[in-house]
Amino acid sequence: MHFLQELGIKDKNYGASTGIEWNTTSDQGELNIISPADGKHIASVWLASKEDYENIVLKAYAAFKEWRMVPAPKRGEVVRQIGNALREHKKALGTLVSYEMGKSLQEGLGEVQEMIDICDFAVGQSRQLYGATIHSEREHHRLYDQYHPLGVVGIISAFNFPVAVWSWNAMIGAVCGDTNIWKPSSKTPLTAIAVQNILKVVIESNNLPEGLFSLIVGRGSDVGEGMLNDRRLPLISITGSTRVGRHGAEVISRRFGRAILELGGNNAIIITPSANLKLALPGVVFSAVGTAGQRCTTTRRLILHESIYNKVKEMLINAYKTVRIGNPMDESNHMGPLIDKGAVKDYLNAIKALKEQGGTVLTGGEVLEGKGFESGCYVTPVVAEAQNNFPIVQEETFAPILYLIKYSGDVENAIAINNDVMQGLSSAIFTDNLQESEMFLAHCGSDCGIANVNIGTSGAEIGGAFGGEKETGGGRESGSDAWKGYMRRQTNTINYGKGLPLAQGIKFDI
Ligand code: NAD
Repeated sequence: MHFLQELGIKDKNYGASTGIEWNTTSDQGELNIISPADGKHIASVWLASKEDYENIVLKAYAAFKEWRMVPAPKRGEVVRQIGNALREHKKALGTLVSYEMGKSLQEGLGEVQEMIDICDFAVGQSRQLYGATIHSEREHHRLYDQYHPLGVVGIISAFNFPVAVWSWNAMIGAVCGDTNIWKPSSKTPLTAIAVQNILKVVIESNNLPEGLFSLIVGRGSDVGEGMLNDRRLPLISITGSTRVGRHGAEVISRRFGRAILELGGNNAIIITPSANLKLALPGVVFSAVGTAGQRCTTTRRLILHESIYNKVKEMLINAYKTVRIGNPMDESNHMGPLIDKGAVKDYLNAIKALKEQGGTVLTGGEVLEGKGFESGCYVTPVVAEAQNNFPIVQEETFAPILYLIKYSGDVENAIAINNDVMQGLSSAIFTDNLQESEMFLAHCGSDCGIANVNIGTSGAEIGGAFGGEKETGGGRESGSDAWKGYMRRQTNTINYGKGLPLAQGIKFDI
């Protein structure tokens, strides 16, 4: 396949790189990467060893010492070149994202576009790493705060956004003066290897140090666990399930490291009686079936006012019948496969649990077989009736299952249902009523990190800070002032006077 060739993906690939050199370990076992699109073997990756990890950390730390001394706007210039290199390979990389992960080609290309966009954002940010100047309470004193580079950042990423989330962390971290070590999901290492190959050209042509952007592929938690415990990594950014994030947070906090946690969601859309259903319906379908329900921001709960419940239910069942399921690389399809057979099992188990707990499946729930579905990872998206307090509804099932939940009375009741889960990532309301939308966005409204009006829960822009509250972990990445998470803050006081006014008016006879 030509896109594999363009991206330097071979039949067998090494799993550890310092940005310039690939470590040549090949005795630790290998990952065989099968495409969920067609069930075919794409390529394999040799797993990294403990020695590889050690080598990578040392190089990343040495690179940090150099990189932090490069003026921030010059660091931005390197990121600008990375953005251009990604532009050159957008088609190939987007295609590999689609083939390895299973999201539609449009979404694969969109993910690479997000990488390009965050590069552009980071270039601007490189000239705006501002601290504040504060008026001192003491005479002839100046007080200000400034932000310094932090160190080597560990980036642990999830399979569903195999490259974009890395770039949110790595590009912002890079302009902040940090170097990074990337541990991608072991389900999607090929896209990470491809990115590393794209970066190499920029690193070499600028004579940048080895270790600026490193990659390490380990099986499951092998390498990741080492990173969590490693004091040489002052910040670990974890994107993944709440289970992994909870464990990560415990281990990292024990050593007083910093963590950015981007964990699971259980996102809801509220539709009130005044809503424009011409907006709401496509908003719900896009957010619920996009990426086959495997986005952290996927809509999992639809909270409908009782007066429009039956109408919206019927419209949704009809809309779901028009969703074309098939090979994600065929642009006429809307929904591709789940990542693997394990995910299909989780989907079936959730449907079983839903029925046992009293819910009703209205449409979907089948695993597709036959021509075009040989991988065994294609399922039909589900619309089901449920209660918010069902244990299965309280969980994030990473599959296209949408629970319809009825509310009565005022919007406050719908907001209470929206908030009555452990996760707090994304939320939305469809309404044409000003009081309702303002109530949803007010301090007594949605408790999520993302709250939208008249658009769905997914499809966040990189310019805003991305992340969520409660068991979603509290981290923020990407735009706004998320860059502050990648730097250490220092408060400085300078006395340019002739006296030394001590705090609390204390005087010594010296
Ligand atoms: P996962 O939790 O299974 O894995 C995430 C990453 O953690 C992988 O790289 C994995 O290898 C690594 N890992 C596993 N055990 C580890 C350990 N002990 N120490 C260190 N690392 C370890 O998640 P997944 O299935 O790849 O992704 C889906 C999950 O990610 C969903 O819950 C989804 O909501 C979440 N997600 C959240 C966001 C967000 O921004 N909030 C974005 C994307 C995905």
